[in-house]
Amino acid sequence: MTTTQTLWRSTALIGGRWIKCTRTSDVANPATGRVVGRAGVATPDDADAAVAAAVEAGRVWGRSSAQERSATLAQLADRLRARRDDLVAATVAEVGAPVVVAEESHIDLAIEIIDSFARIAASTPLRERVGHTTTVRRPAGVVACITPWNYPVYQLAAKVGAALAAGCTVVVKPAELTPLGTYLFCDAVLETDLPAGAVNLVPGRGSVLGPALIEHPDVAVVSFTGSTAVGRLVGAQAGRLIKRACLELGGKSASVVLDDADLRAAVTGTVSSAMLNSGQTCSAWTRLLVPRDRYEEAVALAAECADALVVGDPTSRDTDLGPLVSEAQLSTVRAMVDAAVARGARVAAGGTAPIPGLGEGFYHRPTVLADLDRDDPITRDEVFGPVLVVEPHDGDDDAVRLANATEYGLAGAVWSGDEDRAVDVALRMDTGQVDVNGAPFNPLAPFGGWKASGLGRELGSVGFDECIEWTAVQV
Ligand code: NAD
Repeated sequence: MTTTQTLWRSTALIGGRWIKCTRTSDVANPATGRVVGRAGVATPDDADAAVAAAVEAGRVWGRSSAQERSATLAQLADRLRARRDDLVAATVAEVGAPVVVAEESHIDLAIEIIDSFARIAASTPLRERVGHTTTVRRPAGVVACITPWNYPVYQLAAKVGAALAAGCTVVVKPAELTPLGTYLFCDAVLETDLPAGAVNLVPGRGSVLGPALIEHPDVAVVSFTGSTAVGRLVGAQAGRLIKRACLELGGKSASVVLDDADLRAAVTGTVSSAMLNSGQTCSAWTRLLVPRDRYEEAVALAAECADALVVGDPTSRDTDLGPLVSEAQLSTVRAMVDAAVARGARVAAGGTAPIPGLGEGFYHRPTVLADLDRDDPITRDEVFGPVLVVEPHDGDDDAVRLANATEYGLAGAVWSGDEDRAVDVALRMDTGQVDVNGAPFNPLAPFGGWKASGLGRELGSVGFDECIEWTAVQV
């Protein structure tokens, strides 16, 4: 298997045909800064043509049976599996994700999600009786899927899988930095029985194509994953048009350690969540809240775990952390850490110094910060880099108050020797998902946020229903 994928494209996918764009943009490998690919830059006219193609395909796909939808999604999962090595290599090359992370957390999970929507399409009743009413789930229409750079293929699978399962068609707009995996995903789409135009791809600038898609009268649903700042714009544009917007935004999730927890397991699990994908994971547990009398022990353990991580070449199977996605992202993370240190934070591990021998790439050391004021900005704001803050708490009530004291509410963790007590604390946290004692990710569970972390949910049957409009027929 090759571990880096170069891909030179200059097209948009409209109505089942690759259409040449007049402009292209380069894709850089964040581990080296070198150009490893190229993508087309689509125009608002291309976006219009893509929506028209999706409407046309929707006339066919929207009338398909649940069994046809399920079988075609299973076929798509198979075609993606056949391309697994190329998808992994593209993810290593454009995101900088270490190869093992690219396999497990990006591509295998994406394929599992498409498989899960094949099952959901088959098992979700499209008509149900409620008294004298028949409630009918109908495809909402064209879904505009706008994805970020941190898990590009996974995000695509979550959006496209739900939409196709519901009988909708899509126009996909990937992040400028990471379009390569999306091209490969669309290559797989073209090998399935989906009607031409069921999946369209318009690569290019979000500030140009985003409004063109969101404001298009034939786009019924906007499914956006990205920053809270852009999410606010997208939500406002969609709201003005009374158009559904499913917004998956930022996070600052707390891992709450109760006084009866296995501290080593809790700290180890939290550090690995905080550092996964170089900390560029929206649901990462980036705050470790520990009982005050075990604070120093927890800081030392977290530093030990962070220092043990291997940072380096993402093509190596021994690497735990690759680079951040771009120089701009690296500068943002460094600036946030430097500012926290200037305010008095203790650097228990890592810090902003460059790593010898890795000068060309956008690397940041896995960093653990301690001794922050309770309302220090770095305990509240999303960093989106490999940075964990450790904070002491004074019991369960205090821990819940601290965990909820951010504008976000995407994910979280609770660690305790007593599962009932952990669940009780989990249900007092204003957040979309909570894992107790390191429980694994479940791609069938609804994923999404409270508060500024977003609106709506992705994945599973709840994600499916985001692409459904209901008609209730009384006879
Ligand atoms: P971003 O908001 O900059 O970009 C996301 C997408 O929006 C890109 O495709 C971009 O081109 C597009 N875009 C930019 N301007 C637009 C506009 N005016 N209208 C419409 N679309 C526009 O986010 P990013 O930097 O790519 O991703 C990082 C952010 O995404 C982080 O904040 C992270 O927490 C969040 N994220 C959230 C989830 C989740 O499920 N909640 C998952 C992954 C990432």
